[in-house]
Amino acid sequence: MAQFSSVKRDPRSFLREEYDKLVSQDLDWRIRILASSNGPWTVVSGKKALMLCSNNYLNLTNHPKVKKAALEAIEKFGAGSGSVRPIAGTMQAHVELEEALAKYKGTEASLAYSTGFAANAGLIPQLAGEGDLIISDELNHGSIIDGVRLSRAERTVFKHRDAEDLGRVLNDAEKKNYKHILIVTDGVFSMDGDIAPADEIAKLAAQHGAMTYIDDAHGDGVLGDAGRGITSHFHIEGKVDVEMGTFSKAFGVVGGYIAGSRDLVNYALNKSRTWLLSASHPASVVASCKASIEVVEHEPEHLKRLWENTRYFKAGLRKLGFDTGASETPITPVIVGQSSTARKMSDMLFDENVFALPIVFPMVARDKARIRTIMNAGHSQADLDFALQAFEKTGKALGVI
Ligand SMILES: *Cc1c(COP(=O)(O)O)cnc(C)c1O
Repeated sequence: MAQFSSVKRDPRSFLREEYDKLVSQDLDWRIRILASSNGPWTVVSGKKALMLCSNNYLNLTNHPKVKKAALEAIEKFGAGSGSVRPIAGTMQAHVELEEALAKYKGTEASLAYSTGFAANAGLIPQLAGEGDLIISDELNHGSIIDGVRLSRAERTVFKHRDAEDLGRVLNDAEKKNYKHILIVTDGVFSMDGDIAPADEIAKLAAQHGAMTYIDDAHGDGVLGDAGRGITSHFHIEGKVDVEMGTFSKAFGVVGGYIAGSRDLVNYALNKSRTWLLSASHPASVVASCKASIEVVEHEPEHLKRLWENTRYFKAGLRKLGFDTGASETPITPVIVGQSSTARKMSDMLFDENVFALPIVFPMVARDKARIRTIMNAGHSQADLDFALQAFEKTGKALGVI
């Protein structure tokens, strides 16, 4: 047997130390386990609870057509795809999804990635490199931040949703002679539910010869005509160079994508390592995604219910005296202050059979801890009244209202 000489320091001790530190600051994740599908009500930690923290906005994860598409695709194409997309992992189902998506988004072409995270991490670093500049909204999603970190481009931020500040950054950039400038922003910001001024951003980008990239993960299926997303919301179709999104939220399945010009897609599929080197989705997944798009287009009632619920619930929270921040979408934060208060409130809500998670530092500022709620088209008004009663009770008990 090999002899290992002893070393003074345990190279693994940091694992426990870091974890203990997170626990002591109330910043660790405590995972709750679902014993049913992710719907307006669910069974979580052994208890039936009203779901307020799912991204399944339109409840499509439970839609019969979306489920049936997966079952049929498994029968035809098998359980796995067997390869990466460029080798032997592009099945008819993948191509059909990309054609359907491009048509839905009104773009020349689209490209499916395994996840939204993989799209951002794989494509952003290929769109700007040495001698280029990436300009980000300061509150962009972590997957954008990681994508930017993988690039050799210079990087800078503009103030959150502040087109004037973006103009200032672009004016400064003119003096530096960058080859390319890429402006990246979330469409809907996932922690606050506010919307990027995409119209003004697109206009500034055109004036300065910059390229635009909007991550519409929380806008697709939610904003605009038939959920076509932020470009439809602002009537700026065709004015955003890269429309990136995900099937894991309103579409109720999983998978990232980009939509834009044919040139963009040809470039992206040849350059994104997360696309080239990671297995493609099983056909069941992409078939479900395609069915989801069809449902969103042809059954407008889901989107209508989502927005009715959103207006009703937001108004109810505000009437109770809660601070719901700057939200303009079905993502409604209930800002409570300290992370320990948010934690406590989430636990108390769960005692009342309401499942809503705290969002704490580092995802939001230390003093802006919150319960983040997300509406679902499958909630009834009685469900929302039930939730509002629980918020009133726990909010009063904790002195939040
Ligand atoms: C959820 C989210 C992603 C990641 O999408 P996945 O498909 O779940 O990987 C990327 N960007 C934003 C803004 C998101 O909210």
